[in-house]
Amino acid sequence: MTTPAASTSPVRYLYDLADGDASMRSLLGGKGSNLAEMTRLGIPVPDGFTVSTAACIATMKAGGTWPESLWDETLAALDRLEQRTGRTLGSPDRPLLLSVRSGAVFSMPGMMDTILNLGISDETVDALGAESDNPRFAWDSYRRFIQMYGDVVEGVPAYAYEDALSAMKRQRGVEQDTDLTTKDLKELVEQFKAVSREHMGTELPSDPKDQLRRSIGAVFDSWLTPRAGVYRRAHGIPDDLGTAVNVMQMVFGNRGDTSATGVCFTRNPSTGARELYGEFLLNAQGEDVVAGIRTPRPLAEMEETLPQAFGELVATMERLEQHYGDMQDIEFTVEEGTLYLLQTRTGKRTAPAAFKVARDLVEEGVITREQALRRIEPAQLDQLLHPAIDPDHGQSPITRGLNASPGAAVGEIVFDADTAEERGKAGDAVVLVRWETTPDDIAGVIVAQGVLTTHGGMTSHAAVVARGMGKPCVAGAAGIKIDTAAKQVTVGDLVLEEGDVITLDGTTGEVYAGALELVPPQVNEDFEAVVGWADDVRRMSVRANADTGEDAAKAREFGAEGIGLCRTEHMFMAEDRLPAVRRMILADDETERHAALETILPMQQEDFQAIFTAMSGLPVTIRLLDPPLHEFLPDLVEQSLTVQRLELQGGSEEQLKHERHLLAQVKKLTEMNPMLGTRGVRLALLYPEIPQMQVRAIARAAFAVKDAGGEPVVEIMVPLVGYAEELRRMRELVEETLAEEFQTAGHRFDYTVGTMIELPRAAVVAEQIAEHADFFSFGTNDLTQTGIGISRDDAEGSFLAAYVDSDVLPDNPFATIDVEGVGGLVRLGVEGGRAAKPDLKLGVCGEHGGDPASIGFFESLGMSYVSCSPYRVPIARFSAARAVLDGQG
Ligand code: PEP
Ligand code: MG
Repeated sequence: MTTPAASTSPVRYLYDLADGDASMRSLLGGKGSNLAEMTRLGIPVPDGFTVSTAACIATMKAGGTWPESLWDETLAALDRLEQRTGRTLGSPDRPLLLSVRSGAVFSMPGMMDTILNLGISDETVDALGAESDNPRFAWDSYRRFIQMYGDVVEGVPAYAYEDALSAMKRQRGVEQDTDLTTKDLKELVEQFKAVSREHMGTELPSDPKDQLRRSIGAVFDSWLTPRAGVYRRAHGIPDDLGTAVNVMQMVFGNRGDTSATGVCFTRNPSTGARELYGEFLLNAQGEDVVAGIRTPRPLAEMEETLPQAFGELVATMERLEQHYGDMQDIEFTVEEGTLYLLQTRTGKRTAPAAFKVARDLVEEGVITREQALRRIEPAQLDQLLHPAIDPDHGQSPITRGLNASPGAAVGEIVFDADTAEERGKAGDAVVLVRWETTPDDIAGVIVAQGVLTTHGGMTSHAAVVARGMGKPCVAGAAGIKIDTAAKQVTVGDLVLEEGDVITLDGTTGEVYAGALELVPPQVNEDFEAVVGWADDVRRMSVRANADTGEDAAKAREFGAEGIGLCRTEHMFMAEDRLPAVRRMILADDETERHAALETILPMQQEDFQAIFTAMSGLPVTIRLLDPPLHEFLPDLVEQSLTVQRLELQGGSEEQLKHERHLLAQVKKLTEMNPMLGTRGVRLALLYPEIPQMQVRAIARAAFAVKDAGGEPVVEIMVPLVGYAEELRRMRELVEETLAEEFQTAGHRFDYTVGTMIELPRAAVVAEQIAEHADFFSFGTNDLTQTGIGISRDDAEGSFLAAYVDSDVLPDNPFATIDVEGVGGLVRLGVEGGRAAKPDLKLGVCGEHGGDPASIGFFESLGMSYVSCSPYRVPIARFSAARAVLDGQG
């Protein structure tokens, strides 16, 4: 943050646009710094000044009181602006009119407030009318000002003005605002004043300077509105950044038919294609476009209506994109043929567009590969990896709207954001169906599967917000009628109620009744290219957690460089295996147990063979059985009921004996805290025949794959080790068993034996444990459970969500590693392991291995690899590269 060393005023809170530039973003906000930059470049921008974020922060800290010098600085800046423009605020002679807009460091579309036309009053309205030779425009601006100022600054409910406006239109028998005459508007201004008086209990302030002061204050306050808070949380924007306030001379897009206002993108933000993309409205004011009140026209049509301004706009778009080296989202106004830019910012885009734009900009020589990698957010990879509608669905859409944000959404219809929020948080799949969304709907949009609106265009609020979140959105589906009171939508003869399921295709804009089949995502060439660049940059390797040959093959397709965790229990649970597994658990003696294990062995061998084949040449870490045995048996209550039923109804003696035996065994094995009970290495040491069988299956699978010309790379991993002695014994067992297998086979293969580090004790005594380990793999799921002391199976469904919502915790620690706590244990484990063996291979196989933020932490510890589910492999590859780049600053 720049702190000018002026001797009279220790902190400067205010900057003329001409004094700033793009590098001053943290002080001037995104909008302010880009307006300053455009001014510097000589691009036509209305003149003005920016009240800095520092002023907002100081005000927030002082509980709403402005820093002492701020108002004087504002008056001085106003004075300079008046001099430059030759106009005076509040003067009946050449009045200056101002816009007052928020502009935070990170863009938060529509979340904060704006006041337009400030400076219009009983004294100035006629001058404006005379100057523009358009009294109707002047009076319309006046009534818009009262409406906006009253609502935003003085807290008069917006509906109060809307009601008065609707009543006036009804009385006059007209439909559109534009059909009201000058006389009507004059009358409306008086009515609006009365409405304001009624709600405020006093007159609206009439001094424009006073209004300016109050408007700046209101924009500061709008940083703290709940909807802005929700948006910040959803996008990880800190609460203490504050907003800047941009005060600029008004330019009018509503000064007749040579005036217009619009928004445009330098590339298509949905697909990334380099083409003309945008919308405009003739004779309209800026907010009309964004708010979706009138449906705008495609930008291409502006070439005919306003050719000169259009030509200048296209040239400016090109220039801005080159200058910033990224796709821009631009707001403009044409006032009587003259083009002005009101804003430029990095355009929000869908995930496919992000990849295409990044790749194209690299190919066009505008940016480097590294810059491209820094531009893409890991979450955008996630969006590309989401399912789409099966193209062979063969159904007809019930209606079509604009394809505002791609992807497929299936869910039950809800008509308001509160219900969407409530049901979405409860885990229901809902689609928010609205006439148009407003910033207040944000909490509902976040949890909905998708958004359908009947109004508004590609740049309407719903479309912009949905695209930013990678949420499917169909906008402006004018063919459907919503009756919110009856909670129904009607499309032709079809009536859908709240709770009925619909499917949105945000990629085509189509809407279907019912739930359509979804197909797995297809990654495209742009995606492959960008993730390929990431591979050249990253240091850590990326493996997958996979338990079947099929998953292993998928993981390899996604670029996995091995298996970091094969959970063998999943093989035990397969339906065709369970009877044999149960026989093994229920065995009365060793002979019986051996017989059961002999049945399971070839099945396990088959599984391992498939995985070794799919991952031929790459390491495969197979973890010995982890969960407690009772997980393979029926539930205690259910089994008690089965026995009771048989006793009452009189089953056969043999059956009863079997079920009772089963019940006794379930009782014996059931534990109060199974996650802390007889699982992992504890189980293996108690029933050594189980790991022996597994090791034999591994050995035989490896030989079979080798014989078939494959190259198995075997790593055997012991779970839930807390004591070095546990691992020493297990290693001995594994080595002895393998030695026997090697002898029988007459040849051998190389292998390693390692352990999971997933208990705090293991992390603390890692140096001792490492003596017996060839590698460590951090099981951050159990390490989080045992390190923080919260149950994996229970916490997420209960207090944890509330903790995150109310900011007790910044994130769900099972999703993003708790760096300070659990991360400290990981660090201990890493240091201990390296103290014993400096080159010890270190990996992570908990869920965090696929989480971008956590991957950054693992990179900082110098881990060898991360391992995650197959679909997250590309995200991990990308995030590992970002972690390297971020580490370089
Ligand atoms: C872990 O605990 O992090 C782990 C990978 O093992 P599991 O999730 O199977 O307990
Ligand atoms: Mg574990």
